[in-house]
Amino acid sequence: MIFETHAHYDDEKFDGDREELLSKMQPGGIGRIINVGSSIETTKTTIDIAKNHDFVYAAVGVHPSDIDGLNEETFAWLREQTSWEKTVAIGEIGLDYYWDKEEEVQKQQRYWFKRQMELARETNLPVIIHSRDAAADTMNLMKEIHAEEIPGVIHCYSYSPEMAEQFIKMGYYIGVGGVVTFKNGKKLKETVKKIPIERILLETDCPYMAPEPNRGTRNQSLNIPFVVKQIAEIKGISTQEVEDITWNNAMKLFSKVK
Ligand SMILES: [Zn+2]
Repeated sequence: MIFETHAHYDDEKFDGDREELLSKMQPGGIGRIINVGSSIETTKTTIDIAKNHDFVYAAVGVHPSDIDGLNEETFAWLREQTSWEKTVAIGEIGLDYYWDKEEEVQKQQRYWFKRQMELARETNLPVIIHSRDAAADTMNLMKEIHAEEIPGVIHCYSYSPEMAEQFIKMGYYIGVGGVVTFKNGKKLKETVKKIPIERILLETDCPYMAPEPNRGTRNQSLNIPFVVKQIAEIKGISTQEVEDITWNNAMKLFSKVK
């Protein structure tokens, strides 16, 4: 069975066939799914999906590009959601300097990243971190707040293998998805080669990031076997081993998942 650690099934791209698609997951070998909130609105829709499906769990949090929706009131609401039995992580949170180049906006991103990291510490939940074009600031901020005390994953990992080793030293997992199958995914392939399989989590980030041979189409969790196959080839182990070990990794990190 495959543990899908990062999906957005509340996305409008699934409006036409969401239930039909989700009903195919368990028969198709996808045993658990974490649906990840990225704004206050999508945290609500994430919780709705997790309520309606036994095998789907919720991560609650606000993505750096959506921090406009955060204030003390909505942050308090977010905190309330953490006590629900199926809320298993805070995410996705982090820094994204690819879309936001303004210093003032980046400062706001750091502020809410920190606040949500502290929320994770306070509520004993792991974090799902999104970090794009912000490697140094992500690492510095994590060091500053002693992120080694807060377990988590760097999702859709896009930095160097050396940087991955630094995150792993802090106790973090590395989220690997469709990019590892891309022709231009050399850096991620090198990372996968270098880090222990015990530190890898499987994810889609669907509807985005569909792996080869389906690159460019709407992604969904039944594509993960293409990622598994690629990791197995790089590591020189069987696809079964990749599934089993990454399953155990996810169960360990997201300890509220049953
Ligand atoms: Zn995501």
